[in-house]
Amino acid sequence: MNTRRGFIAQTLATGVTLPIASAAMAQDKPSAKAVRPVVISTWNMGVAANEEAWKILAAGGKSLDAVEAGVKISEADPAITSVGYGGTPDRDGHVTLDACIMDEKSRIGCVAALEHIKHPISVARLVMEKTPHVMLVGEGALQFALANGFKKEDLLTEQTKKAWEDWVKNNDYTPVIDFQNHDTIGMLAIDANGDMSGACTTSGWGYKMHGRVGDSPIIGAGLFVDNEIGGATSTGLGEEVIRICGTHTVVEYMRHGHSPYEACKLTVERMVRKTPRKMEEVSAGFLALNKNGEYGAYAVRPGYEMAVKVENGKHELVPVEFHKFG
Ligand code: ASP
Repeated sequence: MNTRRGFIAQTLATGVTLPIASAAMAQDKPSAKAVRPVVISTWNMGVAANEEAWKILAAGGKSLDAVEAGVKISEADPAITSVGYGGTPDRDGHVTLDACIMDEKSRIGCVAALEHIKHPISVARLVMEKTPHVMLVGEGALQFALANGFKKEDLLTEQTKKAWEDWVKNNDYTPVIDFQNHDTIGMLAIDANGDMSGACTTSGWGYKMHGRVGDSPIIGAGLFVDNEIGGATSTGLGEEVIRICGTHTVVEYMRHGHSPYEACKLTVERMVRKTPRKMEEVSAGFLALNKNGEYGAYAVRPGYEMAVKVENGKHELVPVEFHKFG
């Protein structure tokens, strides 16, 4: 199963060094230095997505185009059962998708509880570019997508239909937190111009209540980008990420001088302090990239022990840190 077990912060980055004009750096930004185009995303399944994004960045394209094209790879992949086509349905058997996108001009677009559309990230981008609004949900989001040429599709695959049928047979319809049945791709990229964008897309928590929306389509929760400072994305139990405005918090820590790693760690620690849940139910993590191209990740509990990094065409494993309880 290609959802993340526990919390992952598997990351992949690809880059070459290019200078960025120091004149573009304001006082409260990380210190000016050479910034390379870079793309980074949550988990090992992000490898193919990052490679797609990298093609655009390497050709001098915009980070907004790169992150959209990148996460579309995961959305289209039926083997990834937590994003887009082939995503795990809610407890009533509906695949409902959440996504958002944010660019270097702080433009934002979001869709939530969208059904039947394989690429919610592209609908989110159109919400950003073609409407006076920032978020469309449910039936209205579907109508908007269809009016803009998206095709209505059945997003359940045989595999996810069968797994849902088994779940219905063996459970009492209570939405439970099962670390097997969730995941998100969150992606951040800086282009050769030094501009950062981000994208985040998921089918959300498996067998959730119909209409439940997580953190992933919410700017400041699942994704936040401030082109002067950096960006962050999250994965895991969206209810907890929303509670502390997770990715906005990460970016604010970076604004106050913390490294991406420290900013993610401080945010996880705040989440752990604030949650009214039992600790064993909480699982979430953050991935951050600052304007210098430095990145870091921190998560509540271990799943995969390593992140993946690719730089100058070379893949590398990077250790990911997890919160220590007690
Ligand atoms: N954050 C997603 C949600 O709560 C799920 C995940 O990333 O595991 O819907």
